[in-house]
Order: sequence, then C-alpha cells, then structure tokens
Amino acid sequence: MKEYMEAADGSLVHTYNRFPVVLERGEGVYLYDTEGKKYLDFAAGIAVSGLGYADPELGGALKDQIDRLMHTSNLYYNTACVNAARALIKVSGMDRVFFTNSGTEANEGALKAARKYAWKKGNGRYEFIAMKDSFHGRTMGALSVTEHEAYRTPFEPLIPGVRFAEFNNLESVKALVTDQTCAIILEPLQGEGGIHMAEPEFMSGIRKLCDEEGILMICDEIQCGMGRTGSMFAWQSYGTKPDIVTMAKAIGSGVPVGAFGLTKEVAEYSLEPGDHGTTYGGNPFACVAVAKTLEIFETRDICAHVREVGAYLTEQLDRLVNECDAAAERRGVGLIQGLKLTRPAADTISRALEEGLLLISARSDVIRLVPPLIIEKEHVDEMLLKLRKIL
Ligand SMILES: *Cc1c(COP(=O)(O)O)cnc(C)c1O
Repeated sequence: MKEYMEAADGSLVHTYNRFPVVLERGEGVYLYDTEGKKYLDFAAGIAVSGLGYADPELGGALKDQIDRLMHTSNLYYNTACVNAARALIKVSGMDRVFFTNSGTEANEGALKAARKYAWKKGNGRYEFIAMKDSFHGRTMGALSVTEHEAYRTPFEPLIPGVRFAEFNNLESVKALVTDQTCAIILEPLQGEGGIHMAEPEFMSGIRKLCDEEGILMICDEIQCGMGRTGSMFAWQSYGTKPDIVTMAKAIGSGVPVGAFGLTKEVAEYSLEPGDHGTTYGGNPFACVAVAKTLEIFETRDICAHVREVGAYLTEQLDRLVNECDAAAERRGVGLIQGLKLTRPAADTISRALEEGLLLISARSDVIRLVPPLIIEKEHVDEMLLKLRKIL
C-alpha cells in the first residue's frame, strides 16, 4: 500500500488529504484494500454507491453496453439516453431532463436555465438567493452559491448577485428578495453543511414566496435524493414541488453522471438549441447506469428498505446519544444521518478506519452516515459496535 500511496502523492495534484488506504474491490456493503483487509462501508464513496458494490444485475447491464456502444455525442439520438430520461422523469416529478457528468455541472445548468428563463421573460432578473452552510459544487457558478469561506476565498471574484440567507429562517430569505431575484437554490437536506433538514414550513414558505414573486425554486437533490431520505427525492416528502431539480451522486450507482430536471413551464421558457451543451452528457454508458439503477430501485423497492433500516438506525443512534457522552446529537433521516460529537470527528474517523469501518464527516464535529442503501439491520449493529468501542 505504501508504494501506491507514494506513487499517487508524486503524480496527483494535492487537493485531497486521503486516508492511508488503497481500496481494491468491493462486494455488497464491504470494501477490501490491497492487503486484503475488509471494511464495512458507511460512506458509499460520499453517498454515491447506493446499490453497494458488484451488484450482478447492474454490472451485467453495464458490461453489455460496453460491448454495444459507449459514446455517441449529442449530435445523434441514442436509446439508452431516452430510457434513462423517461425513467428519471417518472420518479423525479420533472418534465424534461438534461444529463451532465457530475453534480456541480448539474447545478451550473440549473443556474443557467434560471437566468435564461428570466432573460426570456424580459424582466432582467439575475440574482440568486442561496443558503448559509450550503454546498453546491466546486465549479465557478456552483461555487458562487456555496457558502463556505475556505472553498470560495482563493477564487474570488465569483459570479455577482448571490445573497445568502439563514437555512430554516424564512424571514431571512424574504429580507433578501429584490426585484432582481431570479431563483432560490437550496438543499432540502444539507449534507456537507452538517446534515440539517429543512423544516416543512420552510420548504412550503419558500414555494409560496417563489410563486408570489415570480422566482424559480431550485432544489439540489444531489446528495439527499435517490432514496436516501426514504422517498425518491427529499422534496417529495414535503408536498412542495420545485421548478428545477439537480441530481447526481447515487443516480448512476458509481458511474459518473448527473442531471437537472425542469418543469414543462421552465423547459419551454429557458434553454433552447445552442444555449447549453456537454460532450459526454447523456452518454449511452452513463445512461444505462441511470436506467438500470432506477429499474432496480423499483423492483427491489429500495425506498421502502431505506425507511425500514433508516428507522432502525435512528433508534440505535438515539440510544447512543443517550448513553454516550461523546455523542451529542443525532440529525437527519433515513440513510442520511449525522452524529454530532463533543470532539473533532477526524480522530474518530481515523480510529474507525483501523477498526475496519469507513466513515466520513460533515463539518468538523459531525460524523456523516451515508451508507449504501442496501445495508441491513445487522450492518447497523456492526457499525455501532465499532463506533461505541471508539467513542
Ligand atoms: C456532492 C454535491 C455536489 C457536487 O457534486 P459533484 O459531483 O462533486 O460535482 C453538489 N451539491 C450537493 C448537495 C452535493 O452533495
């Protein structure tokens, strides 16, 4: 492992402080390193590997597609892209989708669609309202609506006209609305920011505000979507529908793919031929991953499974908070939960790695639990046995 790590450090741009482990293969909810050590995975490659590892049905579909056709560009139609789009429309509640290669690129498209919508309406609006502690990605547009000083400062000036409101404080959002506001962007459940769920009144209040003021509502479902909260997309449990939804992470089960969805109204008044594009987006290989993932979600009722195991995880984490001084608070729902510690999360995460448990943090003192969505109660027990020992 040491040899690999040295080679990596000598050849990659040093943008990540990686954990000292070289992963080689995965099976179910377990990963194995090059020395053969086994890890229980409660990180899922940052909420990506919803179906775990080496799923034979997904793998079979991908292998078939590799032999058939990997790439076409968007100059032509391809069947996989249409299948994926129709499946995604069915579950996302949107009317049109655009495929991207990542989450940040989905948000770039969403912001452009909102700007174009305002431009076409002829109202000249260009401002965005985003939330404090938000995370929307690392490219310049998505970074502009991300409220995290360390991520932003070295790259300023970012795009102008972005204001940050307090999450779950409707009055603070209202105070930022001007006659130039074109869209409000938020995560219904903030992931990177520390696992904070939007309150129902906040979501419905934003919807009402947007309707009254002619503002578009953008939900970033990149992390909290795809079944993680127990409904296919987090917004669906609030009874308020956004105008634009962005998706990525688990939608391709590990194949890099994202998407943004628009309602018919926004699709008709925003992006037109020539306005936006991407060479890979909607690539047949990535789209087979999306279509097959969605098919598996339906046939195995992954959302029902998340609700069941998520309820058990909630119960067990609440017990841990009651019994263990180092565990201060539980946050989140389903299989996107946070455990706030009374100490920095980094030490606990390093100790967990030694114990064969993969964990990640959200901000400095929160353990973020985003396991593959296929975990069973016994895996929750196994994780907690290790975590209790460490804490
Ligand atoms: C991960 C994430 C992104 C960025 O996705 P990338 O694929 O890393 O570009 C954007 N928004 C949210 C909420 C995320 O969790």
